[in-house]
Amino acid sequence: MPEALANKIAAGEVVQRPSSAVKELIENAIDAGATEVSVIVKSAGSELVQVVDDGCGMAREDAVACFLRHATSKIRSIEDLERIRTLGFRGEALASIAAVSQVELRTRRVEDAVGTLVRIDGGSLSTTEPVATAPGTSVAARHLFYNVPARRSFLKTPATEFKHVVDVFQSLALSNPGIGFHLYHQDAEVYRLPAADAATPLERLRFRVQSLLGDELADNLVDVAEETSYLSVQGFVSRPAYHRRSRGEQFLFVNERYVSNRYFEHAILSGYSEALPEGAFPFFALFLSLDPRHVDVNVHPSKAEVKFDDERGVYGFIRAVVRKALGTADLVPQLEDSYLPGYHRAPGEGALARATAGGPAPAGFAGAGGGSPFHGLTPGDLAERLYAPGHQEDEEGGILPSGAEPSSAETLEGAPGRGLLWQLHDRYILTQIRSGLMIADQNAAHERVIYEWALNKFENGLGMPQQLLFPQAIDFSSADFELLKEILPELRLLSFDIVLLSGRSVLVRGVPQDIRSGDERSLLEDILEQVKLNRERLRLKGRENLARSVARRSAIRPGQKLTEKEMRELIDRLFECEMPYACPNGRPTMVKISLDELDRRFGRARLDR
Ligand code: ADP
Ligand code: MG
Repeated sequence: MPEALANKIAAGEVVQRPSSAVKELIENAIDAGATEVSVIVKSAGSELVQVVDDGCGMAREDAVACFLRHATSKIRSIEDLERIRTLGFRGEALASIAAVSQVELRTRRVEDAVGTLVRIDGGSLSTTEPVATAPGTSVAARHLFYNVPARRSFLKTPATEFKHVVDVFQSLALSNPGIGFHLYHQDAEVYRLPAADAATPLERLRFRVQSLLGDELADNLVDVAEETSYLSVQGFVSRPAYHRRSRGEQFLFVNERYVSNRYFEHAILSGYSEALPEGAFPFFALFLSLDPRHVDVNVHPSKAEVKFDDERGVYGFIRAVVRKALGTADLVPQLEDSYLPGYHRAPGEGALARATAGGPAPAGFAGAGGGSPFHGLTPGDLAERLYAPGHQEDEEGGILPSGAEPSSAETLEGAPGRGLLWQLHDRYILTQIRSGLMIADQNAAHERVIYEWALNKFENGLGMPQQLLFPQAIDFSSADFELLKEILPELRLLSFDIVLLSGRSVLVRGVPQDIRSGDERSLLEDILEQVKLNRERLRLKGRENLARSVARRSAIRPGQKLTEKEMRELIDRLFECEMPYACPNGRPTMVKISLDELDRRFGRARLDR
């Protein structure tokens, strides 16, 4: 197949509409290390798409070679190949754009005295000559699809096409706040976005959101920052009071890549529960990062679609994180309205910025087993502190030591009898918190606790198993025996004391103290069963799988009666978790009903109280 034809076909994949060319060219500028990127568009991109950068530029040979398919300079190693799979570097963007437009490239490296001009018309080279030009690169693609009439007629109205261009521009601007961006349409400046130079990623993002979307939104941002071993999320959501009647200001990124995924957009929305009016859309810019092996990014031409190996878990996590962020933000005006003259609203950014900068985590997010910063406090205290992080911090944004003077807010709002625990139908644990009522699901809560306990054990090695009085010999089927052998080293890290006997039998001499005691045989069989299920259904591997399996199969079941001491210990341990709000499968571990909510339901106006 002639190269030009191949390019034209490939172009259909990469360049669907003007905004796809905009995206590819901006990404190239970013890859080239640009600090300033200008995007110039005419007639919504069908007449001209031009991107000018101050990046590394290209040598003469490269300026021609970059239009060859698979000309990418980015594949140098096997790891690069993995990145390519996940980020979609394919080395065919320029070739594709050039196949369906008239391209003019001007480029110069700083070290070269003179630059290079290359013109390509419908995929064939028409000019290469030296040219005087600033260091960096400018690529102009004119008359997109001039030689593919079918494709050209498929374009939507200029307004729609321009909206796609703006979407692409906004998403790249948000994910690269350290780079300055300009957008011009029909010679008019649409956006001028100075580079943000704040110290932390979240602060840079805040600055960028402000210049891109305005002060009103910037005043209504709520920080989101959560990290677990599987997934981390950071960014902003808007306060419920700020919303739009149409979707649009919604940006979800996975491993730095802008993606579209209705399912997770729904997770975010449901994190607002009833706080948003019917038909209203919040703003969000959330960056998810996780091991690329747990996520499939399908780089479809117009949008990147993502699929996680544990969709439900991620859904629940996102919802819980948003809920938590908003829950805390909502509390603040409530306190400010009330009789708390001396109460300063502590900057929420403090702890989050530290968290994103890799500093110490805010109190209450110490890893499970890492020693509770709340030792000696009742669960009620714990929950209240967690739900009101404004109180975790002193004026410098530092974390109050657990023994410190309670803030004025705490003494004022402290309620008699707090810390009482109540088990409802042997399934749910009820307790009073400052803002109202908290209901924990004993099973989900315990799953979370065991899961993090297990991950922690994997990291921190051996503990003392609880030695069985009567070691148990157990025979397994050959498949289970093989599996058991495979995960034995990990089981040992979890303090299972197991020795292999001859044949397919093992001797269990000890089990972890922290998990369900009783029938060791069915416990082990249950765990093996769950490991198999997780492999098949969730494609979970290794430790993540085992941690979840142990959690799933050894957690307190619904219907199990708990003593007050057991409930207290469970809630205590839950709040020592990194991510207390959802079980590893994404179900919530707790639900909070605020006094406001109760008052509303009982038809009690605010002033009656
Ligand atoms: P890819 O970005 O996947 O490598 P492209 O077709 O987009 O493929 O670009 C091909 C190559 O051209 C890049 O790998 C890079 O070496 C070079 N290139 C493209 N745009 C620029 C630019 N703005 N500045 C410097 N080099 C560039
Ligand atoms: Mg590229």
